Amino acid sequence: MTAKLTRRTFAHLAGAAAIAAVASPSLVRAAKARVVVIGGGPGGLTVARRLAKDAPGIDVTLVEAAARYTTCYFANHYIGGLRSLESITHTYDRVGADDRLRLMHDRAIDVDTARHQVTLQSGGTLAYDRLIVSPGIAFRIDAIDGYDETTAQTMPHAWHGGAQMRLLRRQIAAMEDGGLVLIAPPALPYRCPPGPYERASLVAQYLKQHKPRSKVVILDAKDSFAKQKLFEDGWQRFYPDMIEWLPAEFTGGLVAVDAQVGTVMSDGETFRPAVANIIPPQRAGDIAQRAGLADESGWCPVDPHTLASRLQPDIHVLGDAIDAGHMPKAAFAASEQGKLCAAAVRAALTGTTADTNLLSNACWSLIASGNAVKVGGRYGPGDVGFDEHDGFISGPDESNAERAATAQEAEDWYAKMSQEMFG
Ligand SMILES: Cc1cc2nc3c(=O)[nH]c(=O)nc-3n(C[C@H](O)[C@H](O)[C@H](O)COP(=O)(O)OP(=O)(O)OC[C@H]3O[C@@H](n4cnc5c(N)ncnc54)[C@H](O)[C@@H]3O)c2cc1C
Repeated sequence: MTAKLTRRTFAHLAGAAAIAAVASPSLVRAAKARVVVIGGGPGGLTVARRLAKDAPGIDVTLVEAAARYTTCYFANHYIGGLRSLESITHTYDRVGADDRLRLMHDRAIDVDTARHQVTLQSGGTLAYDRLIVSPGIAFRIDAIDGYDETTAQTMPHAWHGGAQMRLLRRQIAAMEDGGLVLIAPPALPYRCPPGPYERASLVAQYLKQHKPRSKVVILDAKDSFAKQKLFEDGWQRFYPDMIEWLPAEFTGGLVAVDAQVGTVMSDGETFRPAVANIIPPQRAGDIAQRAGLADESGWCPVDPHTLASRLQPDIHVLGDAIDAGHMPKAAFAASEQGKLCAAAVRAALTGTTADTNLLSNACWSLIASGNAVKVGGRYGPGDVGFDEHDGFISGPDESNAERAATAQEAEDWYAKMSQEMFG
């Protein structure tokens, strides 16, 4: 990838490289404290924009690999035919136009924690006083027999935004009536726990309208799942006999795939789906592993008061990449963590104190058009990540009007998040 230099980037890069070449950053301090943020998703973009706005004395550089960001949240709406891909794809144009931060479209490929320096794919380096890492997830590709990087081109996970979402949508649109869509969710923890079940709902809604003899099978690695009763009631009501959920206790879960012949195997059964949506187990994004921020679990342990890494000094980690305890891996949560992290880093670099508030999360799932349920709560620091202080969940007997209001809440949240992140 060629790095795109934005605004004052060139001067900064040259300066940072020069500093890196002559001396350790601990010997040569920049006039302003330098914060580098890796990752322009809900976690990284929130923290970068907050710091740039609230701490003019700090020099903020955001490194984001992609030129555009397609949200995973609301991607199920796209896969179910309710939204266009464009409507969930955002550019960083306004972020790049903000003079208070420096945006670089480049990939961070290494972190020298001793020298406080990030290496970029383009060949440059960035020196930091504090590094903030929010790279999202990577897949444990070798966890499924027969699965590799190429398999995802025929059996898409569609658990990253963009091309994978388009591929799954196209496969569903192209399949024959009477075919099977198999969704294989991983064991916890993974990005967006209710996501596979919302996906099953919206795929079923599409199939009911366009290919009514088709079925959806969920070959689960778990024996229960988020908002289970609400989903199962909804499936009974909107898609009777169309969605079959297979818990791991009866099948042993997904054990292997054969992408050549198009088969998916559990312990005792071989499926021949028309569309196989295989969602592999996950871990923190590659740069977090490379920087030594993840432990043997694959996730990054952090101090929940500041999101400082428990493994590397002067580095903070947030979003899906961390072990957040009871706080789910969600965009809402990542954004809340971004606000906490910005306050903590600003306090550390300016010698002030940060307020400690509970963090919120809410997660909406659409079961059918205009019919959504939600779950959420407030979270505070615990021994590992965050503990839940209080929570809420939609009731099983809500009226259509209540469910429609919940669906509208989700739309409003999406618009607000997009505005906060991309301007
Ligand atoms: C189907 C689905 C539905 C979902 N629905 C919801 C929902 O309704 N509500 C909700 O709150 N959440 C939802 N989520 C979860 C949500 O998408 C994630 O929790 C959220 O995106 C996490 O944000 P993040 O900033 O941690 O990571 P990401 O959003 O993955 O952002 C990471 C960014 O870092 C960049 N990056 C990674 N590595 C590097 C590097 N080395 N150098 C430079 N850049 C790098 C990536 O390009 C990316 O832009 C859903 C997820 C899925 C898959």
